[in-house]
This record gives sequence, structure tokens and C-alpha cells, in this order.
Amino acid sequence: MADTEAVTPQGQSAYVSRSRWLPARPETLVVCCSDGRWHGPIHEFVEHAVSERADLFAVPGGPAVFDPWNSSFDDARVFDAAMRLFAEHHDLQSVWLIQHEGCSYYRLKHPELDAEAIAERQIADLRRAAELSRNRYPKLAVRAFMATVTEGHARFTEVDTTIPAKSGFSISLSALP
Ligand SMILES: [Zn+2]
Repeated sequence: MADTEAVTPQGQSAYVSRSRWLPARPETLVVCCSDGRWHGPIHEFVEHAVSERADLFAVPGGPAVFDPWNSSFDDARVFDAAMRLFAEHHDLQSVWLIQHEGCSYYRLKHPELDAEAIAERQIADLRRAAELSRNRYPKLAVRAFMATVTEGHARFTEVDTTIPAKSGFSISLSALP
């Protein structure tokens, strides 16, 4: 469709999307930060990897929301209700947890940490979120990624979440494959 503007029978103008609306329910839920600068690259990455549109739960700090001790009990409760809905009423097969470099949520929450220590903390939180997801939703496959910027493009590096979350604090970003 060349023109995305349309007029309703009542004479109101409306916007018509260029992309088609498809009825099939996504099988992947992406949990990421609400920082909009990352959403384009995240959509592109998920479509490239699983060839479908994903459900998206975006909240400041992204996967930190899994753990009420990391985020807040109110945030964790809202997320838990959303996860139950996605898990029970959508056709979810997997959950993808994505953290990003330079996250304001972490800088505000941990002002005492430098960039490297924040990255370590984010990776530890990814492992904790993966562990909680496996405990609560054992049918869902879990994948976790750290997103960084390289020469103006987002790079998604998979994080091994089979390592216990507690040891995550001693593992630096540079140790990633
Ligand atoms: Zn962020």
C-alpha cells in the first residue's frame, strides 16, 4: 500500500500499517528494557533468529523484573501476571531475556558500580532470571543475550545461563565467547 492514510466511513482519518497483521500467535516472548533505541535491533534479531514476530514485555531494566529483590515487588507482581497470561493463553515455546549496555535503570539503581561492574551485574541478573523462569515455567526454553554497541550497530552475545546465578558476579563481559 503506497498511502498509509485512510478515511473511515465517519470521515475520521486513520493510519493503516504497511506491515500485515497476522493472526498466528507468537511462540517467543522477549523480555527487554523499555529503552526504545534497542527495539529496532531487537525486533530484527528475533525475526532473523526465529522468523516470526515475538511477544514483547518491555520494562526498565528488562529481565531484572523477574526477581522482586532486584526490581520491586510491585513490578515483579505485574510481570508475573503477564507471564502467566502469555504462558497459558498464547502458544509460547520460549522466552528470550535481553540486557543492554549502558542501561539507565542499572546506572540509577547501582550508582556505586562502574560500567564493567554493571555489565557483570546484568549477566548475573540474566542467569537469575533464567533460573526463575525455568523453575516457574519449565516448559519454556530460555535464552539470554547481552546487547552491546559495536561501530554503530547492536551486537547480541548469548549468555550461558546454565552456570549458577550466584557465580555470575565474578564473570566479566570480556569472558563472553
Ligand atoms: Zn535499559
